[in-house]
Amino acid sequence: MTSPPYEIIIGLEVHVQLLTRSKLFCGCSTQFGAPPNTQTCPVCIGMPGVLPVMNRRAFELALKTAVALNCRIPRFTKWDRKQYYYPDLPKGYQISQFDLPLSRDGYLPIGDPKGAFPPKRVGIIRVHLEEDAGKSMHDELSGTADSRIDLNRAGTPLLEIVSQPDLRSPAEAKAYLTELKLLLGYLGVSDCNMQEGSLRVDANVNLHIATPEGTVATPIVEVKNMNSFRAVERALAYEAQRQHEQWRRTGQKLGDVPKQTRGWDEPAQLTRAQRSKEESSDYRYFPEPDLLPVTTTEEEVRRVRGSLGELPAALRTRLEETYGITPYDSDVLVNQGRALVDYYVEVAETCGDAKQAANWVQQDVLRTLKGQQIDVAQLPVSAAALAELISSIRAGRLPGSRGREVFEAMLNSRRSAEEAMRDLGIQQVDDSALEDLCRELVAANPQVATQVRQGKLKAAAALIGQAKKKNPNVDPSRVREICLALIEKTL
Ligand SMILES: [Zn+2]
Repeated sequence: MTSPPYEIIIGLEVHVQLLTRSKLFCGCSTQFGAPPNTQTCPVCIGMPGVLPVMNRRAFELALKTAVALNCRIPRFTKWDRKQYYYPDLPKGYQISQFDLPLSRDGYLPIGDPKGAFPPKRVGIIRVHLEEDAGKSMHDELSGTADSRIDLNRAGTPLLEIVSQPDLRSPAEAKAYLTELKLLLGYLGVSDCNMQEGSLRVDANVNLHIATPEGTVATPIVEVKNMNSFRAVERALAYEAQRQHEQWRRTGQKLGDVPKQTRGWDEPAQLTRAQRSKEESSDYRYFPEPDLLPVTTTEEEVRRVRGSLGELPAALRTRLEETYGITPYDSDVLVNQGRALVDYYVEVAETCGDAKQAANWVQQDVLRTLKGQQIDVAQLPVSAAALAELISSIRAGRLPGSRGREVFEAMLNSRRSAEEAMRDLGIQQVDDSALEDLCRELVAANPQVATQVRQGKLKAAAALIGQAKKKNPNVDPSRVREICLALIEKTL
């Protein structure tokens, strides 16, 4: 596969709703799913004569995120009115932050354990706080083309995280979003539920095309309306091809046309042109006169930094160094969230076999959690119980081949590994009985012995099958080992 004759330049703008109980400038609830317009008050519906009061908790969560993203925290930050008219914005402006955001110049490291791209730091231009708008609902089904407005969301605290245009492929964009979402989850600042709109992504994308006359940049396009990370990846891949095609047809370069906004059409799997993007001067930003600026001391920043806890990147490194597991394994575990990591650590510490613990957690435990749509706290097999199962295999009390069967029984009956083994009639076969059985099988199957001597070690599988039929408790790998040794001895 030849690489395309251009480089894709991507910057992402992510909006996340913060997990506060009340809105940013009033006491209304932020609970999702309430009947329309039941969580509103004169402040968030923009009645005249009311005064906003900042939600301190929202500011703390925003600060925590900015510090975790390695941003610089200026001592002084203020609020601005971003003016535009839209039916779901009753005040006629949104309270946001313009020239003095609460943080700047951070970065988020990303990597791919499978090596699809080299590890890199993605620059963060700024993280700032603003209020969300309401929601317009266009009812196309009733045939009356009614539009209704729900203002429950108006005033919900929203964090805007703007990256540098440092991403060079749709895969890198997806990795950045995945890592950012994971970080926000570990920090406990947002539930990042894309279906409920708690996390929304806009992408700025253009191409740098190599030509004999030098590198040409195509006009920047903002892509909106992507409601999953997979959609972001596809929309960016589509947009790169479309821009290349457009450039070949028109020769349009950056600066020749105003910035365009396009929306991702999921069913059609393509982007469509929307209204053209306003420049920031169109918003006529001006300082919000009803809110005091916020000052943050170095002391506060230090306290926040000290309270972050162990974040995903540090946790991956610790798992690799302490338990000797691969970067791929640590990535799978950490990406599932802190609770699963704690579960894994307990299994590994208790059974003393970190690699086997990683295999069991990644395969059987994760498959069960996904299949039953539960989280690890609800799993009927506790970490101690799984450790007991692994220890039984290590001690030779349980054939490895029957481990999964025991795990299933533990899941269904919530019993310990020992009880499940007893229920299944699994008993350890002592070594002398096992040797007798193997001797008998080797003697009864001279053709297998001949094949093995000719180097066809796979032929021993027939002996294992017969051994299991005679006694389901035998450990297949032990049977193989003993039979091969016996055949060798009779040479
Ligand atoms: Zn309100």
